[in-house]
Amino acid sequence: MQLYNSATHKKEEFTTHTPGHVEMYTCGPTVYHFAHIGNLRSYIMEDVLEKFLRWDGYEVNRVMNITDVGHLSSDADTGEDKMLKGARREHKSVMEIAQYYTDAFFDDCRRLNIKTPDMVQPATGLIDEFIKLIEGLLDKGYAYVAGGNVYFDTSKLERYYIFNAHDEEDLAVGVREGVEEDRNKRNKNDFVLWFTKSKFEDQALKWDSPWGVGYPGWHIECSGISLKYNGEYLDLHCGGIDNAFPHHTNEIAQSEAYIGHPWCRQWFHVHHLNTANEGKMSKSKGEFLTVSLLEEKGYDPIVYRFFCLQSHYRKGLVFSWENLDNATAAFHKLIAKVAAQDPADGAVDQTVLEAYKEKFRAQVGNDLNTALGVTALYDALKAKTNGATRLAILNSFDQVLSLSLLEKAAAVREEQKRQKTATQGGYTITGEGDPAVDALVLQRYEAKKAKNFAEADRIRDELKQQGIDVTDVPGGASWRRI
Ligand SMILES: [Zn+2]
Repeated sequence: MQLYNSATHKKEEFTTHTPGHVEMYTCGPTVYHFAHIGNLRSYIMEDVLEKFLRWDGYEVNRVMNITDVGHLSSDADTGEDKMLKGARREHKSVMEIAQYYTDAFFDDCRRLNIKTPDMVQPATGLIDEFIKLIEGLLDKGYAYVAGGNVYFDTSKLERYYIFNAHDEEDLAVGVREGVEEDRNKRNKNDFVLWFTKSKFEDQALKWDSPWGVGYPGWHIECSGISLKYNGEYLDLHCGGIDNAFPHHTNEIAQSEAYIGHPWCRQWFHVHHLNTANEGKMSKSKGEFLTVSLLEEKGYDPIVYRFFCLQSHYRKGLVFSWENLDNATAAFHKLIAKVAAQDPADGAVDQTVLEAYKEKFRAQVGNDLNTALGVTALYDALKAKTNGATRLAILNSFDQVLSLSLLEKAAAVREEQKRQKTATQGGYTITGEGDPAVDALVLQRYEAKKAKNFAEADRIRDELKQQGIDVTDVPGGASWRRI
C-alpha cells in the first residue's frame, strides 16, 4: 500500500523489515479521564489501518501502552501528573483511577468496533525495563543527572527534530500550555527520563532506582514497551498528530540512541477532530463529548465510526450534531440497502468478488482513503451480479471498515419479518399487529385527511405517551415502540 510517512513528509510504498510481517505500535491513552471522541478518531483510523494490512495479507503484531504514570499536565515535563490530578478530582487512589478509565477506554473501543491490540502494557508494569534503558543511555553518554532527575541530552544527536522542521507539522504542533523553564536542563529540548522525589514529593507511585526513589518520564515508556514487544525494528508507529512533538520526537531520540541504528520506518499521524466554534476538541473546552454521551443522545456509536471514515485521516474533521444527524440518515439508508440483498439469491461468484476486492485494495491502499472505501460499499450494492455475491463483497470490505453491516442488515430483516401490516381503505399500517394502536394510527390519518390537525397532533401525543413512535410513509404509516 501507499502510505504518507510523517518522518519523510511524503507518500511512500509501505515496507516492512520482515516481508509479510508488520510490527506496529500505538500510543495508548492516559487513563485519568474518559477519552473524548476526538481522541477516539485516532484509534478508529489506526484500527482501519491495522485491519486493512491484515486484510491485505500481512501478519500484524500490534502493541499499545497504557499511560498510568508520568504524563504531566504539560507535555514538556512541567505541571503535575495527570493521574494524580484525576485521583484528587475523584477522591480515589491513582490505581483505582487507572483501572476505571482503562476499562472505560476499552468499553468505548468495543462500542466503536475497535479491535484490542495484541499486546497492551500499562507503563507501571514495566518499570525495570525503563530503568535498564535509562542506564544504557547514561552509559552511552546520551543522558545526564541534574538536580535529582535524569535528562536526555539532545545536543548529542546529529538530528533531533524529525517531524516539525516542516511547515505542515509545525502548524499542527500548536501552542504548548504552561511551559516553565527547568534550570537543570542543559539544552532547551532536553527532557526528563526519570524524576526523583526531590522534585515531586506528592507523587503517589514511586519506585526505587539507581538515581533515587522516583518515577519514569512519559516518553521513555513508549520506547521501553515497543523495544520489548516489537523488537528493535519497528515498521509502523501510530498516534494523534499532537504526539508528533515532543512525544514521538523524544521516542525516536531515546530509542535510536539506545539501539544504535534507525528504529521506526513509518509514522502515521491522525489529525484533529474540530468543532465549528471551539476549534480542536479537547477535554478542557466546550462540551466534553464521549461515546456514552452520543449513546445518551440516541446515536449509534457505529454511526460516529461511519462519520469518521467519510473523511481522510490527514485532514481535520469538523464535528457537529447536524453532521452526525446526516451521517445517521446515510447510515440507515445504507443498512436498508444491505438488508434488501437476498442471501439466498445465487452462489458467490469468486471472479466478481476478486475483481471488487482488487479495486478496494487500490482505493483504500492509496494512503488509507477510507472515504473511497465507503463509496466502494455503494458500488458493491450496484454490482451486476446476484445477492449472495454482493453480500460477500460487502462482507469482505467490512472486515476493514468494521461497520457491522451484515449483522445490522440481518437485524433489520428479522424486524421486518416480525412486523405485521393492516390495510384499511388503501391505507397500510405497519407495526406489531396491535389492533388498539392500529386504530389510533388510523384515527390520526382520518383526522389529518379532514384537515383536523389539532386532533391529529393530539392522537400523536397520546401514542407517544404509550411509547409509540409513528412515521408517515408512502401509502400509510409505520409505528414502533421506543
Ligand atoms: Zn507514545
